Amino acid sequence: MKKIPLGVSQCLLGEPVRFDGGHKRNAFLIDVLSNYVEFQPVCPEVAIGLGIPRKPIRLIVTDGEDRIRGIENSDLDVTDGLYREAEKAAGQMPDICGYVFMQKSPSCAVFGLKRYGTNGYSIDSRGRGAYAKRFMELMPLIPVEEAGRLVDAGLRENFIARIFALQDWRENLQHEPTAKKLVEFYSRYKYQVMAHHVPSYFLIGKLLANLSEHPIADTNNKFISLLMSALGHPATRKGNANAMMHLRGYLKHHISSLSKQELSQLIESYAKGVVPLVVPLTLLKHHLMTLDNPYLKNQTFWSPYPEELGLRNVVLSV
Ligand code: SF4
Repeated sequence: MKKIPLGVSQCLLGEPVRFDGGHKRNAFLIDVLSNYVEFQPVCPEVAIGLGIPRKPIRLIVTDGEDRIRGIENSDLDVTDGLYREAEKAAGQMPDICGYVFMQKSPSCAVFGLKRYGTNGYSIDSRGRGAYAKRFMELMPLIPVEEAGRLVDAGLRENFIARIFALQDWRENLQHEPTAKKLVEFYSRYKYQVMAHHVPSYFLIGKLLANLSEHPIADTNNKFISLLMSALGHPATRKGNANAMMHLRGYLKHHISSLSKQELSQLIESYAKGVVPLVVPLTLLKHHLMTLDNPYLKNQTFWSPYPEELGLRNVVLSV
């Protein structure tokens, strides 16, 4: 399998690029995910010439604007430099399928960065690192996550599912799309989308029902936006159970009522949080594969990412 290109905050790979000369080595990224992805590391603060070690900076709301400035030297304002670095990086990595950012950084944080007033007091935690902010504006399709949030099984599963789906689209549909290829591509994702977000399932269905009305390139772009947005909704126990119940319908005339009952009970146990997804999924897949139906066989819902990642062996909290 071709490795998936992924942007990453450089300190997460164990490289000593932080302001204090340290790093934030992330074991999951280095020991597990690196088997499937090719990291494209960037330390924006080093890239704009701040050096190692360097004086700390933070988000200081200045004249109503979020600015990244020095804590000791408030004359230092690196906001525009970080924006320019994001623009450069976005141009240099057009094919990445995701980005893992370092949390709490005035350059790289995506969620809940502390904002300070010019008086030095904290205002709230609603900021975003300047580099991450600009990068995300320029590349809205790219799934992003913070390394600290990847410890949550649901968030980790959701991020990984999206990077694999985007890579699949880039390889099979981004270039030279046709109506046939688009329909075939989405037919593999139907139950995965249903598990993540039912309204998107209907929206995408509607988009693809009118393929002759718009240029295929436009529809393809709309499609990938909708697909990424759909998969951005976490696949909850309720969503996964719903998709499995729909798939179970294909077995109506093919398995005994005892087997149907056994399957329904496992799906219910999963929905209640008693067993992990892999338990009912394995039995459902076992029965459905005997039908030898390519449409069912090719559903990405079975394995949105390599099973070795073990992301479906945990009981989700929701
Ligand atoms: S958080 Fe971002 S800016 Fe800070 S050391 Fe890591 S990569 Fe560099």
